[in-house]
Amino acid sequence: MVKRGADQLEVSVGDQPSTDANQRHEHIVEIIPLGAGQEVGRSCVILKYMGKTIMFDCGVHPGFSGEESLPYFDSIDLDTVDLMLVTHFHLDHCAAVPYVVGKTVFKGRIFMTHPTKAIFGMLLKDSVKVSRGSTDAGLYSEKDVEAALERTELLDFHQTIDVDGIKVTAWRAGHVLGAAMFMVEIAGMRALYTGDYSRLADRHMSAADLPSPPPHIVIVEATYGVSRHLPREGREQRFVNMIRSVVQRGGRCLLPVVALGRAQELMLILEDYWDRNADLRGVPIYQASGLARRALGVFQTYIAMMNEDIKAAFGQSANPFNFKYITELKSQGGLDDVGPCVVLATPSMLQSGLSRELFDAWCEDKRNGVIIADFAVQGTLAREILACPSHVLTRAGAKVPLRMSVEHISFSAHADFDQTSQFVELLNPPHVILVHGEAVEMGRLRKALEQQAVVLGQRRLLYTPKVCQPVHIRHRPQLKAKVVGSLADKKALPGKPLAGLLVQQGQTCMLMAPQDLPTFTKLHPGRIIQRQVLSLNQPWPELRLALEILIDGVQGTADLGSVSGDASGETLRVANTVTLTHRPPDSVVMEWQGDPVGDAIADTVIAVILQSGSEPPAVSSAEVKRRKCLSVGDLEGAAAAEVALLVAVLDAQFGRAQINAIQGLITVQVDDRHVAVECKTGKVECADFALKARVEVAISRLMEALAPASLQE
Ligand SMILES: [Zn+2]
Ligand SMILES: [Zn+2]
Repeated sequence: MVKRGADQLEVSVGDQPSTDANQRHEHIVEIIPLGAGQEVGRSCVILKYMGKTIMFDCGVHPGFSGEESLPYFDSIDLDTVDLMLVTHFHLDHCAAVPYVVGKTVFKGRIFMTHPTKAIFGMLLKDSVKVSRGSTDAGLYSEKDVEAALERTELLDFHQTIDVDGIKVTAWRAGHVLGAAMFMVEIAGMRALYTGDYSRLADRHMSAADLPSPPPHIVIVEATYGVSRHLPREGREQRFVNMIRSVVQRGGRCLLPVVALGRAQELMLILEDYWDRNADLRGVPIYQASGLARRALGVFQTYIAMMNEDIKAAFGQSANPFNFKYITELKSQGGLDDVGPCVVLATPSMLQSGLSRELFDAWCEDKRNGVIIADFAVQGTLAREILACPSHVLTRAGAKVPLRMSVEHISFSAHADFDQTSQFVELLNPPHVILVHGEAVEMGRLRKALEQQAVVLGQRRLLYTPKVCQPVHIRHRPQLKAKVVGSLADKKALPGKPLAGLLVQQGQTCMLMAPQDLPTFTKLHPGRIIQRQVLSLNQPWPELRLALEILIDGVQGTADLGSVSGDASGETLRVANTVTLTHRPPDSVVMEWQGDPVGDAIADTVIAVILQSGSEPPAVSSAEVKRRKCLSVGDLEGAAAAEVALLVAVLDAQFGRAQINAIQGLITVQVDDRHVAVECKTGKVECADFALKARVEVAISRLMEALAPASLQE
């Protein structure tokens, strides 16, 4: 069942309809994207379950600057976040970490893989330096970056850690060096957050793992929606052909790249192509990011995390990142800009920096070309030029014609439709949440995955929350309990229920007999005895009578014939559960064991005590008269009072009861039904069978109550 409110999605899952009884065993998983909800950028997804809060990723949006680029941290209490898991070093996934550490009340633990932490540190220190002196400086300082690094703990691929009841396992995500997917498990509920991932190995990265055991919820990137990548060979061929055509017509070829990740992949492709094509060797390739050079050291350190080819090449001591044809460029001034060349420069979205300077310098010459090899994020110049505008604005604000060729080739290592649909099919989670994608593409992917689930006969619900729109998923935990102690002595038979106490200690559950509690736990069984003192508004014997008329099984020491009714400490036991002790003159002490049955009977007794003061006067006066007659031995008078009492009780319970002294009958009129009761025998005549039975019960209760008490305790 899916209910869509104004700004939240609510679903109930499970094979059975969600009844009250089922809901009692369900818990709500809440997922809120603070960023990357129907957008690409500022990835930050909150997951809350059973009092635990996890933040997946903490990045900035490349299309905005300053505070506007941050995820919507105001929407949650940052000091309740237990754990932050950062998938990889791309700025849209990690660049807000120093801000959260240095400028907010966040006090949770932070985890990354080794290479992510190493490159994260380099990248962010670098970005602080770059922003120093620029106008939008100051989201955080170098000190905040240092503090973030100090706080960050390490997690290896395929390692599982337990953070205060949250089990976290890191899986390979492909994508870039060190990129991880995180599987978290809280009390049996498993959720997988993919971050950016790729299921295809490329020149330097292995493909993403298929995590197990299967998760209940998958939060997956939707960057490429339903589009399909060209096969790797075809894509590489197209890429080198583009470059060849630019340099052969005498142009300069600009490759705006992220310093780390795709840049290394493109360099490996170019190095290989230049090696195989002697005619191109006169054309220089420049790598203009000092950061990329420094990061290569990190790449070499973590070579074991890369694919088999790279490992093998490095094993033979040929460092694959030791490039023959690629020169490092210290600055634009160092560029010998005299003829055809290829330049890899940051940033990839052409917002600022060297890639933008070169673009501004080269865009008016039609021999030149720019190749966008990364996913072009909305709101950036890279995205704008893909629409082939006739003019563009330079950084300096001049309107100039755009004559250079603009090409786009999807080289970013994100999953495409084939990879995502296969990944989801294999994991087969009941819930899939799409993030890190633009609204339209995401909508298409959602539909396609829904159709796929129908075709495969898999049960699946898909969600595409906007930023700050929470998704609520009901989860019914599958409890596995170990039977221990005396309960385990008997052989368990299929279909035969086993009753005991379910005790949860951390992640483990045990089922045991109550008496075994001290053996297996630090707990001791106890009872709660409830005690309540009530004031009594009528004589004690009348209360007993009222209780006996209403409830089966009233036993006691009191002699109902006693007129005084004041015998101190008289006790009644009601339904073998509630004990009433009379405290003369006008209060009564109730005691019972606090459990559902005891509480229900106690409630009834309390109602009788509170109501008995308002008993019809006829009943009490007949009862008083009867006791008086008995006390002086007037049996005839007592018998007459008994009949009057019977009339009063029937009148009170059914209405319109009268005595016909001549016939020796009591007649009761209930609507259009007529009841006749023989005074002497108590025999009931009535055409309505159900009514007859009710009257008979009322009479027998009264008779029991009037019989001299024989149960002495
Ligand atoms: Zn990424
Ligand atoms: Zn990303």
